Amino acid sequence: MGVIIVTKNQIINNARKQGRTTLTEIESKLVFEGAGVTTIETRLASSQKEAIALSDQIGFPVVLKVASPDISHKSDAGGVRVGLKSKVEVGKAYREIMASARQKYPTANIEGVSVQSLARPGIEIIMGMFQDSQFGPVLMFGLGGILVEVLKDVSFRIVPLARRDAREMIEEIKGYPLLQGFRGQEPANIPYLEDLLLKISDFVEQTPEIKEIDLNPIFAYKDGAVVVDARIVLEEVASQQS
Ligand code: ADP
Ligand code: MG
Repeated sequence: MGVIIVTKNQIINNARKQGRTTLTEIESKLVFEGAGVTTIETRLASSQKEAIALSDQIGFPVVLKVASPDISHKSDAGGVRVGLKSKVEVGKAYREIMASARQKYPTANIEGVSVQSLARPGIEIIMGMFQDSQFGPVLMFGLGGILVEVLKDVSFRIVPLARRDAREMIEEIKGYPLLQGFRGQEPANIPYLEDLLLKISDFVEQTPEIKEIDLNPIFAYKDGAVVVDARIVLEEVASQQS
């Protein structure tokens, strides 16, 4: 995702300095790129003019999303527009996103919008991590969209994962046939998804200050996968004793 080299620690320290425990989508994607996870190209625009210029650089069609450390559920804020095909569409989407977000979150600090490439449609999957009070960090895998929200079709394993755990996690969800290419649809690359789970497991082991990870969705293809939305939540730091 671009050429800017910012390390995981710089991003985390910067958020801490601002008193935040939630990393923005852009920050979270940069952290995952650093961990060897492919994310869709995503850049911050702090004005309509900048959003149009970045769209032109990235290439149409693009996606615009509200960029605010105070807004985690961007769609709910009217803050996501996909498939924008021209400068005119981008300008209009910028104004609409800002108006909607300001109305729904009047006190939010809104940095602008993120401008992203439109990811080619794939099988929507999710990967996540949460801290269990008994087992420590636990990874979650599932299919995206309604299958996850309504059917809770997900699997869990405790960190660190072995390759066998990763494979089982993927195979044991009910929707597994979809990943194998149901009715002539493009299948997902299962070994690639195993690698992805193992990378996240390594990353979690190396970054104990992370409380929660939400990669929702990831688009899976026959030749790989790309993270389309990402969120990292840090552990609260205990206030310093002197
Ligand atoms: P939210 O904060 O509401 O979860 P997302 O970033 O997940 O926002 O965007 C909502 C939906 O829009 C995603 O589930 C996905 O289907 C679609 N989407 C988001 N970003 C892209 C993108 N770069 N390319 C293609 N589709 C996207
Ligand atoms: Mg999302």
